[in-house]
Amino acid sequence: MFGQVKSLMRRVFTKEDNVKPALPQVISRDHHNISRSNISTNALKVLYRLNSAGYEAYLVGGGVRDLLLGREPKDFDVATDASPEEVKRVFRNCRLIGRRFRLAHIYFGREIIEVATFRGDGSGDRRSKDGLLVRDNVYGTLEEDAWRRDFTINALYYEVKTFSVIDHVGAIADLEAGRLSIIGDAAERYREDPVRMLRAVRFSSKLGFIINEETSKPIFECAPLMETVSSARLFDEMCKLFLHGYALNTYEQLRHYGLFYYLFPQVERSLEQQESDYPKTFIARGLENTDQRVSENRPVIPAFLLAVLLWEPVRTRVAEKSEQGMRPMQAYQEAADEVISQQVKSISMPRRISLQVKEIWIMQAKLSMRRGRKVFELLESNRFRAAFDFLQLRHQSGEEVAELYEWWNSFHQTNYEEQESMLSQLRKREGPAGGRRRRNPYRRRRPSGETTGE
Ligand code: ATP
Ligand code: MG
Repeated sequence: MFGQVKSLMRRVFTKEDNVKPALPQVISRDHHNISRSNISTNALKVLYRLNSAGYEAYLVGGGVRDLLLGREPKDFDVATDASPEEVKRVFRNCRLIGRRFRLAHIYFGREIIEVATFRGDGSGDRRSKDGLLVRDNVYGTLEEDAWRRDFTINALYYEVKTFSVIDHVGAIADLEAGRLSIIGDAAERYREDPVRMLRAVRFSSKLGFIINEETSKPIFECAPLMETVSSARLFDEMCKLFLHGYALNTYEQLRHYGLFYYLFPQVERSLEQQESDYPKTFIARGLENTDQRVSENRPVIPAFLLAVLLWEPVRTRVAEKSEQGMRPMQAYQEAADEVISQQVKSISMPRRISLQVKEIWIMQAKLSMRRGRKVFELLESNRFRAAFDFLQLRHQSGEEVAELYEWWNSFHQTNYEEQESMLSQLRKREGPAGGRRRRNPYRRRRPSGETTGE
């Protein structure tokens, strides 16, 4: 994976391979693999336009990192010495966003290029008493900007005027070594913004990089700082952590560092309490499936992921309620509501999504009932696929739902006649209501005129 960077390093440091390069290091066009053809044309437009308006402008962050690693960047960010207001004057299709730090978003149809003004050295920052950065809108130079970024590998700048890459922080050496290093004192940087701990895990999983010790060790003691992060921001971070193809590794690392508890407290507690392997197997398989889908370019939805992660607390509550004599449907409804209302204290989610999560769980109850003609309604519901996949996951992870799973697996794939025959077999075996007593819809109709007396 790091072939291109390694060859880049060989060419830059031919003889003195072990000598640390002096910083800043400028890597010219012939010594790196970034080509303009790999950069989005809209990002290039932004760079050229800012340059011709007399401003400095660089591609920065994940875009440069990923291009150097030969990966396809997720998005392109630009850093400039123009103030946000000056950027707005250059682009008509521009909106300024952010309160803490003003950023310019330049719109090109569905693509947004984010343009940030160089940040200063922090002398004008305001911090809360526990070190959290509450305002940092002092602008600065490129070098100051580099030192304010989170990890060295995220602080590389590509200048389109000269086609060179600028490294102020030792990023190239870290890229070559496959190492994630925070810039500055880790504990201090985590206090400023605890989300950096999640980002450390995310980049290490995504890139397969090792987190260096100065960066990783303080995470264990700084993890509780996660409580200060807003639940809305955590929803966005959660999606980035789990929906981009490396969810399983991310989850394992989050648990290792004690960060997972702050995202999903109920789940962490249930994993610690449960003696059986089922919940762990279930989550691991669910995340593996998600990763597989991403690698096949199939859609993944946050609701399914949340339904998987939160299943064990729901299952435990359903079991408790059923033991107390509650009917399955009500048990599922109540358990789902309780688990979601606990969860949103840590990670808020749009109502649309919490409803989808709940539906996946409630459909587990419905799938197990197999009530007469209702099975066709279930089959046609647009949540059937998600609910069936969920049932499959339960089955594959060792929950005792084999018969149910096999039945639905045949039922949803077969023709109507066969479905009718499967239903009538089920009725013979379990009675008309799938084992439950209810009004018999198949009873002989009374001749007209005869009343029931009801
Ligand atoms: P991705 O591939 O996920 O887009 P990225 O590195 O581009 O990775 P972004 O969240 O897009 O990450 O942020 C762009 C850049 O902004 C980062 O590369 C980093 O330099 C800087 N940055 C983002 N978040 C922080 C933070 N919390 N603290 C310091 N710098 C940050
Ligand atoms: Mg990015």
